[in-house]
Amino acid sequence: MSERFIPIVDRRANPVPPIPADAGPATGNLADVRGRRVRDLRISITDRCNFRCTYCMPKTVFGRNYPFLQRQELLSFEEIVRIARVFVAHGVEKIRLTGGEPLLRRYVENLIEQLAAIPGLELTLTTNGSLLARKARDLKAAGLHRVTVSLDALDDATFQAMNDVGFPVGQVLAGIDAAAAAGLSPVKINMVVKRGTNESSILPMVRRFKGSGHILRFIEYMDVGSSNGWCLDEVLPSAEVVRMIDAEFPLEPIDPNYPGEVAERWRFRDGSGEIGVISSVTQAFCATCTRIRLSTEGKLYTCLFAESGHDLRTLLRSGASDADLSAAVAGIWRGRADRYSEIRAAATARPDAPTRRIEMSYIGG
Ligand code: SAM
Ligand code: SF4
Ligand code: SF4
Repeated sequence: MSERFIPIVDRRANPVPPIPADAGPATGNLADVRGRRVRDLRISITDRCNFRCTYCMPKTVFGRNYPFLQRQELLSFEEIVRIARVFVAHGVEKIRLTGGEPLLRRYVENLIEQLAAIPGLELTLTTNGSLLARKARDLKAAGLHRVTVSLDALDDATFQAMNDVGFPVGQVLAGIDAAAAAGLSPVKINMVVKRGTNESSILPMVRRFKGSGHILRFIEYMDVGSSNGWCLDEVLPSAEVVRMIDAEFPLEPIDPNYPGEVAERWRFRDGSGEIGVISSVTQAFCATCTRIRLSTEGKLYTCLFAESGHDLRTLLRSGASDADLSAAVAGIWRGRADRYSEIRAAATARPDAPTRRIEMSYIGG
């Protein structure tokens, strides 16, 4: 199959709002136009990955000659930490490192060490688990609190068809074990469910992880980006996933850990743990969305489905002070009105609907 080049790098940029001369200090109470606070910052630290999951980085697009970002285009660790500090002052309580595959970024432990030194922050990372068995202890020693590991099936045939690079399940399982042994727990395990591809793996995954202390979460296949050929028929609604599990292992709903938690939680009635479902397609949670995303080269996205981001890197590299950065970030969040999942049908039916959207591997999950 020939490669289609649809570079994921966002060459456009929304303006960074003008910085008022009298911008006061951050108060931790920044609210957007719908009254939502900023609480959760996701930082993509590389746009590269050693997998080619068909729903995220299909080989037909992300082939051998794909123009990934060059080193000088990436935010440096120092730049990332500066931005992180500004966000924490504005109320961010949790930072998740993601990508691409974040464990491919060289010296990621050094970045973790610097972020972990910021007081009052929960620091987590999402990984495909391929390098976790080797790195779990160093990540923990650097100050990482928890990891989320993506795993879409327990049998090699299904998993390898989905990661599309022949990566075996056993090595991801070894990574999960190493993470738990290192104390990066509870380990969360994310399974993207695609109807017709891996729904037969749902119950085997439950049987494997029930009672392990890990938290298995089922994610509806989403229409992120424009390269995965998404169609609604391939979405298995979370309600069906819950029904399927409940028939073998009775479940009961439990309260969220905190307001705005994205995963809906269910507990096994026999007391052997819990699962979560993330229903991004069938049950929009925009009303409580407190997330913001920083791309690998320093663009800030106020929604996973944003068409373009705000270029903080240019601001950083033109000598902006921390106060300037803080005011810029505040202006961007205050102007945020995103609610794509609530209006998905109408948004995609519009004649002027964008034909190209930012890819998951670029913006981070
Ligand atoms: N490479 C790491 C990994 O796979 O965990 C981190 C980045 S990945 C983009 C983050 C998360 O997004 C993963 O759990 C992945 O399964 C999920 N993801 C990617 N594309 C998706 C899609 N189209 N729908 C739902 N989840 C998706
Ligand atoms: Fe890579 Fe993660 Fe995307 Fe899979 S989901 S291709 S592991 S970035
Ligand atoms: Fe948040 Fe955008 Fe997702 Fe809605 S669609 S939950 S605003 S990221």
